[in-house]
Amino acid sequence: MTYNDICLLLRQRYEDGEARAVARYLLEVGYGLQMTDIICGATERLPADELQRKTNRLLAGEPVQYVVGTAEFCARRFHVAPGVLIPRPETEELCRLVEEDRAEGEGIRHILDIGTGSGCIAITLALNIPGARVEAWDISNEALAIAQENAKRHNADIVFRNVDILSEQPFLQQETGNGAHCDEHFSNNDSTKGWDIIVSNPPYIVPSESKEMAEQVLEHEPGIALFAPQDNPLLFYNAIAIYAKQTLNPHGKLFFEINPLFCDQLETLLTGLGFADVTFCYDRFGRKRFATATKPV
Ligand code: GLN
Repeated sequence: MTYNDICLLLRQRYEDGEARAVARYLLEVGYGLQMTDIICGATERLPADELQRKTNRLLAGEPVQYVVGTAEFCARRFHVAPGVLIPRPETEELCRLVEEDRAEGEGIRHILDIGTGSGCIAITLALNIPGARVEAWDISNEALAIAQENAKRHNADIVFRNVDILSEQPFLQQETGNGAHCDEHFSNNDSTKGWDIIVSNPPYIVPSESKEMAEQVLEHEPGIALFAPQDNPLLFYNAIAIYAKQTLNPHGKLFFEINPLFCDQLETLLTGLGFADVTFCYDRFGRKRFATATKPV
């Protein structure tokens, strides 16, 4: 199959520009080809059956990142599969907010990522913030296996744990990471008593929004990572904020990716719990997409 054959097939499902972009991603990221080679017919040397199978998956609506097994996030490549959300560009901005928050000359900082999925946030922070000690939690073992693989691929030293933040004592749950088992709040094995930063991109879409969502997302990405209950959209924020209130160090900070629909409710929740400096930041599309809050002394 040539590049043009693939594009032609994909046009059964995608408009022209997107068909080309998807075909390019498949060939460049999936097979490491350069566009010049692609144009010169390098695709003819690829295993034809495999290429056909992948094209069929794309035609069935599967996101190209799952078909290729790779997504790009903050200039790194992460393994992704249907058990984890495909990292979104907005979430790169969440990482930037955490990275830029660093004060000059700061030493070791203990960072917890709740609902890590592919591990993209935890790994990015571990690699980009000097002196970061990062722990990452998820309720899904499938996600934790992918996150661990990504941490290994990028040489990031992260402790992974299977924790359900909705359960009352998350710190007593089983550990699946590479650190020593520890049934205290903190596994960081030093004198620090709490977290300096808790970051999370928890499920925040409510089911009534699904009519505006792409079929590709609804049919292929894990609902468990996307949806919060219609009647309790802040379920995860509430649990995380209560845990953060107990475990952040004084001046420690909470960083959330959020649903712009619920920012007023979230502000009430965070101020009600006693957090200070509750601030909202906009994403590149001009939507209130992030919230930060500080634990007072
Ligand atoms: N931003 C994601 C989306 O639009 C949702 C991520 C989440 O629910 N945390 O699909």
